[in-house]
Amino acid sequence: MSKPVLAIVGRPNVGKSTIFNRIVGERVAIVEDKPGVTRDRIYSQGDWLNYDFHIIDTGGIEISDEPLIHQMRYQAELAIEEADVICFIVNGKEGITAADEEVAQILFRSKKPVVLGVNKMDDPGMHDRLYEFYSLGIGDPYPISGTHGLGLGDLLDEVVKHFSDIKEDPYDEDTIRMSLIGRPNVGKSSLVNAILGEERVIVSDIPGTTRDAIDTPFTKDNQDYVIIDTAGMRKRGKVYESTEKYSVLRSLKAIERSDVVLVVLNAEEGIIEQDKKIAGYAHEEGRAVVIVVNKWDAVEKDDKTMREFEQKIRDEFLFLDYAPIVFLSAKTKRRMQHLLPLVQEVSEFHNLRVQTHILNDVIVDAVTMNPTPTDHGGRRLRIKYTTQVAVAPPTFVLFVNDPELLHFSYRRYLENKIRNTFNFIGTPIRILARKKND
Ligand code: GDP
Ligand code: GDP
Repeated sequence: MSKPVLAIVGRPNVGKSTIFNRIVGERVAIVEDKPGVTRDRIYSQGDWLNYDFHIIDTGGIEISDEPLIHQMRYQAELAIEEADVICFIVNGKEGITAADEEVAQILFRSKKPVVLGVNKMDDPGMHDRLYEFYSLGIGDPYPISGTHGLGLGDLLDEVVKHFSDIKEDPYDEDTIRMSLIGRPNVGKSSLVNAILGEERVIVSDIPGTTRDAIDTPFTKDNQDYVIIDTAGMRKRGKVYESTEKYSVLRSLKAIERSDVVLVVLNAEEGIIEQDKKIAGYAHEEGRAVVIVVNKWDAVEKDDKTMREFEQKIRDEFLFLDYAPIVFLSAKTKRRMQHLLPLVQEVSEFHNLRVQTHILNDVIVDAVTMNPTPTDHGGRRLRIKYTTQVAVAPPTFVLFVNDPELLHFSYRRYLENKIRNTFNFIGTPIRILARKKND
């Protein structure tokens, strides 16, 4: 399931970005700012109670030369499209304006959950001004102060209540959920069409509809799959074309709903920062990854071209050293037949459980070949036993005398041993250390 999305809407200067920054805290935005598109960070993540969520400040989008009311309408529409819950911020010092009333109308009609935050209520003496805001017709106003951090807990309590209404994805566990992620024009829709056009592929009559997208379930050779729709594949609205940030958000949401992420590159073009960021997110979220180099038909090749391109990908995507690379063409269909079997294979490794005694033999061998490190005081890391605690991605826990003694390089060494022994293709694996007393 993907993380829920909270959007912040409101007039300029009501305090949206102050509140956004409070909720986000010290996190670093995944999407960096680009001149011209935003004035500040507009997209990041937050957490409250048991929820991790995406948060977007629609005020960060500026459409130059448009009257305020048009900008506000546009931002409200974006929020309605993208968010599960909308936080509408007004200014408690100024009271209600015509623009507030207009936005309240739009939000009300959308039937999306809206939580009303009345900002700049810096001291409790101002609270009798709250009643005025009931006339917006969108429920109880929550008094907050972005600069002083007051009232945000109550506001977020109300926000996350609505998150619990979000339905789970309807697919059963054996269905491989896959998404195609990449810039516009790399050939994502062509690839989807090519997959669905393959022999023995049976596309379900009923598209899976979710809160975000239209998914395409299909079956091939007794394996169920679903293609999770992403930005720009089917829903090329004006809103998405004009703001790349929101297509990034859509990609992130698709990654969260996927078992296997196909990172699609265009053989004719290089690799850009955005490709790396999105692929990095798939890695962090523990998804299986296949790198697809599309439009291979359009490249002039000799016997070195493929190896060179592969090396370039390896250099750029260092963290994805486990992801298989496939060179193909959606247009000529060349090598298309390898794609689904590869998706199925990485999905199997993503869900692989290894036997505990074999795992422990591997670790003992690894330690024999390359002894565990010691700290400055000469204390040595001792691994008592190892067990696999999860799949998707495979996650291993080492029970040790002191987790601090497991350094990055030794963890990496053990990861490689496990990876090579069990041949974990296409999936990240995680190694955790827990203290175990004698
Ligand atoms: P945005 O345009 O809606 O994103 O608003 P900003 O977050 O940039 O805030 C606009 C101005 O209001 C800034 O000068 C903030 O310091 C100020 N501001 C934000 N929150 C509060 C608050 O709770 N109380 C007061 N007094 N000022 C605030
Ligand atoms: P998307 O924006 O990623 O969904 O990309 P599209 O599937 O719409 O494809 C963008 C353009 O690339 C279209 O003009 C396609 O015909 C073209 N295209 C897609 N796949 C291939 C391919 O394998 N080879 C060549 N030469 N062109 C392709």
